[in-house]
Amino acid sequence: MLRLEDPVSRVKFVGTRWESKLKKLGIDSVRDLLFHFPVRYEDFREIYKIADLIPKQEATIRGVVEEIDTRRSWKRNLSITEAVISDDTASIRAVWFNQPYVKNVLQPGTIANFSGKTSGSGDVYLSNPTYETIRGEDEETKHTGRIVPVYPETKGLTSKGLRNMVAAALGGIGTVKDPLPPDILSAVGAPGLTKSLRDIHFPDAVEDAFAARRRFSFEDLFLLQLFNLKRKITLAKSESIDVPVDLEYVKSVIGRLPFLLMDSQKKSLWEILQDTGKKIPMNRLLQGDVGSGKTVVAAIAALNAARAGRQTAFLAPTSLLASQHYNTFIKFFGDFEGGVALLTSHESEVFYGHELSSEIAKAKLANEIKKDKVKIVVGTHALLQKYIDFPDLALVIVDEQHRFGVKQRAELLGGRRAALVPHFLSMSATPIPRTLSLTLFGDLDLSIISEVPKNRKKIVTKVIPSKERSDTYRFIRNEIKRGRQAFVICPRIDPPDGAAEQNSYQAALLWQVKAVKEEYEKLSQKIFPDLRVGMLHGKMKSADKEQVMEDFMERKIDLVVSTSVIEVGIDVPNATIMMIEDADRFGLAQLYQFRGRVGRGEHQSYCFLFTETATPHANRRLKAIVEAKNGFELAEYDLKQRGPGEFLGESQTGMPDLAMKAIQNPELVKSTRELALKTLKEDHALKKYPLLKERLGIFERMIHWE
Ligand code: ADP
Ligand code: MG
Repeated sequence: MLRLEDPVSRVKFVGTRWESKLKKLGIDSVRDLLFHFPVRYEDFREIYKIADLIPKQEATIRGVVEEIDTRRSWKRNLSITEAVISDDTASIRAVWFNQPYVKNVLQPGTIANFSGKTSGSGDVYLSNPTYETIRGEDEETKHTGRIVPVYPETKGLTSKGLRNMVAAALGGIGTVKDPLPPDILSAVGAPGLTKSLRDIHFPDAVEDAFAARRRFSFEDLFLLQLFNLKRKITLAKSESIDVPVDLEYVKSVIGRLPFLLMDSQKKSLWEILQDTGKKIPMNRLLQGDVGSGKTVVAAIAALNAARAGRQTAFLAPTSLLASQHYNTFIKFFGDFEGGVALLTSHESEVFYGHELSSEIAKAKLANEIKKDKVKIVVGTHALLQKYIDFPDLALVIVDEQHRFGVKQRAELLGGRRAALVPHFLSMSATPIPRTLSLTLFGDLDLSIISEVPKNRKKIVTKVIPSKERSDTYRFIRNEIKRGRQAFVICPRIDPPDGAAEQNSYQAALLWQVKAVKEEYEKLSQKIFPDLRVGMLHGKMKSADKEQVMEDFMERKIDLVVSTSVIEVGIDVPNATIMMIEDADRFGLAQLYQFRGRVGRGEHQSYCFLFTETATPHANRRLKAIVEAKNGFELAEYDLKQRGPGEFLGESQTGMPDLAMKAIQNPELVKSTRELALKTLKEDHALKKYPLLKERLGIFERMIHWE
């Protein structure tokens, strides 16, 4: 008897011969093979009489092979096999190209089914039909005379081959134990695992295939919800430092800001302060449109923690952003004496209020942190290194990264107090549609900054066809002459096939750099030789990048050409032009982020989307960016267009495809979540359901978010 975890080579007909081909499809085990689902089906249920066939029809016939022969066409280097097949109504020709072995199988007198498409006109014949010899009248067929699965294929392994393997695996496996218990299956009206596996591959009716598919989507969603809710429950059971709210202090800090906080900023801040006041670790996502002012909200939470004598680690994805956040503290809270530090791979600075920020040796800074003399440390992942030990860490803030494991959080606390888990606040400008956040981030509480500061003007956004390029350059020059600044984003270029298969990320990076360098040459020498042009890309040293950004902020550079490193968080209010080359190559969420780099000050801002390919699809997407009222609207659109996988980007892989699709069904998400909650409430360790528990374990390992 086969088991799911057996290597696929144990399946009859597979053996070691097909191992490498199957591996190309990601199939190692029997489970992988059975979960290699069809992309579609062909309906060959009805068996036609040959006399009834018409041109250009998908059909199955059953007949006897009258004659068969193979000849070579030397001119086109083809082998052509031709057969005459007849039933009790008529006979028809069937033709196969480059399949000489057909002749061995379909010897004259053989009875077989033939499924395929009839030729276009005149003398009707079957072109390359799939065939299946028939021994007994009621033998079950796999390739013909039924609803036939069509699989994702690979070179040398067709759907026909896969069908044989899947059928053999299904035959060998008997009844498969179902991780979903009967009461849950009946609650959602889903078929059991054994039936679902059969029906998704070889359904008797289309509805059966759909029901099976629904079951698997449900299963994945259900596991995802259990996973999230379990994390939430685990977190709720662990302990954190409760930071009291010093309301007077918080008010005075807000009062000294050069602007009024918006209501939703205040509300979010209040939600955060309430949470950090508890002994249960906070797990909160602060969402707000680009430029909505999330940083200052997070910063005030950090100041409140410092006031209570507690430390905060403030993590940014890039060193550029880390130093920007650090400078936000100095700019807005210059009288804070508790010690703010900046720590990236190449920088370490500290600020104790009033005086200037000063450089400090890393070891010395680490020591200050350890002695609790620095309350707030802003930095990149450099902060997570072992030698950085926070004795009093209460709050971890992470900008533009949604997830951060409980384990990592505990590690930040160092050995001594690892029993405590710090409060956690993540910030994101990527607007995540509600259904998605409930599913992927179901364990996070949400605070939303729903408005942007009132002084902002709407950004004029235009799609620019190539013939208007020089006009646009003229416009940009004029703006710069009036004192404004501009960004130019270069396209994401995919390296040519096979350029560097081993390390495609590195290869992609190199190609991006190449694009930026070329664009930089062109703009600085040909288009704007009179302007000061700078360049930014991922291969530059952090210090050099920072220098360019600093020069840009200080208006020593008019225009900066960049890869997508500029994407998140950069705040330069005097920059009013965002020009994006080959805009159609970027995701909408990313374009939206790019655009968010401008429109941050008092001046009218512009976003120019250049595109060379004018496919209707590309144009529709770009139009969505022009018309969308806010990031959420755009996110919903993007989600519908491309599905969650692409929407979120590569980093979220590990999510099963079907679950990804199911996420687009809000009703299913909602009911699944409720069911998962009920299940865990009644039996949080899943004692009643050992198989489900085991399955969840596999699922957790599969999702590599942490
Ligand atoms: P994001 O939410 O995209 O991270 P930032 O925190 O960088 O946005 O804020 C964008 C800009 O808005 C900053 O220059 C910040 O000082 C400013 N800002 C924040 N809150 C307000 C407000 N209530 N009124 C005016 N400007 C604000
Ligand atoms: Mg930000």
